[in-house]
Amino acid sequence: MLLMRLCIVVPEVSADSETLRPAAVWSIPEKRISVRTRTKKSVKTLKKKAEKTYTKKKETKSKDTNIETEEETKTKTVIDTTVTTTSKYKKGSRKVSVSTVTRTVTTTYKYMTVNALKELSADRTALTLLPAAPPVVYNITDLADRVDANLLRAFDEFGMTLIIDGSADALGTFRMEERQIILKRQDSCIYHELGHFLFFVAGRTDRLPAANAVYLAEKDLATSVSSGYSNVSVSEYFAEAYRCYVLDRAALLNERPQTCAVVQDALSKVTDAQVLRIKNTYSAVWK
Ligand SMILES: [Zn+2]
Repeated sequence: MLLMRLCIVVPEVSADSETLRPAAVWSIPEKRISVRTRTKKSVKTLKKKAEKTYTKKKETKSKDTNIETEEETKTKTVIDTTVTTTSKYKKGSRKVSVSTVTRTVTTTYKYMTVNALKELSADRTALTLLPAAPPVVYNITDLADRVDANLLRAFDEFGMTLIIDGSADALGTFRMEERQIILKRQDSCIYHELGHFLFFVAGRTDRLPAANAVYLAEKDLATSVSSGYSNVSVSEYFAEAYRCYVLDRAALLNERPQTCAVVQDALSKVTDAQVLRIKNTYSAVWK
């Protein structure tokens, strides 16, 4: 999801806040649903005879969510159980026939593991699940030690804050107005959000017609380190491309040379002069 917030300053007004749903970030999940229905019939004896003939139906629902936090398997299973008990009473009879139907719907979401994540789990920026609360401010270099130096300087110059908030419902959010990057946890999503930051600082080169042409030409070639999420929009594509660039530059260059060139071009535009220019342009609307 990409929420655009417009501010009042030229040029190429942009402060975007975007939200990544966990299911959409690394990959499109594979969804498998299995439904199992069990029926049990029994006869119950009442102490007193039934006064009329009627059917009573009771339904109980329980939802059991089991989230496997093992990042290697990246599966999530949701079990939804519905028990329907139907009791049939017959006037003048003490016998009640009871039918219990248990319907279990098991939905398994299997996330295709992205190569980059596998690779990443070996280093110190591995996928570490952090405590859910409270939000903690992190030093950018502790979480993104591979970020390009000029981009890092821009991050500091703008007074950007990096927050990890385990209770956030998005894996990553980039908010230029608030000058914040909010992550749900420590993972390579930081480079995706920094990708948005990169193109913001570079002067929105991801919105130029030439970048759009590259997007159209190469978006379907993303297989190695990119995710299905990158086809959402051109700006998501290039944010994700920066993540790929950081994690496996050689793979990106080999797979999508023009995309790699757009990223490199954006990086080359992040000069100290450009950083000051953007800062002067936007600081009036920063919170
Ligand atoms: Zn994004």
